[in-house]
Amino acid sequence: MAGQMERGARAGTWGAASQRIRDKLWQGTLPADDPVKGWGSNGSGLPCAGCDDVILSSDAEHEVEMSDGRALRFHVKCAGLWRVLKQARSRE
Ligand SMILES: [Zn+2]
Repeated sequence: MAGQMERGARAGTWGAASQRIRDKLWQGTLPADDPVKGWGSNGSGLPCAGCDDVILSSDAEHEVEMSDGRALRFHVKCAGLWRVLKQARSRE
């Protein structure tokens, strides 16, 4: 039983980002449809649409454009999480 408690406390930032993106998808804050365009660039210093942390210029940024013209920027890992989680959501 003690071991289970320790595992929960060690979820770390990766788990937190994943949880935040999942919450936003389920609440509709993040779109669940596919972007029309996507490209990579250097971090812009603006907040990530997924985890809300700033994308530092030392990080890679993944930017997408939705069919309604809305642009979203993510950390590369958050873009990956978003893609996987929205697919999971569309199957439910
Ligand atoms: Zn992020």
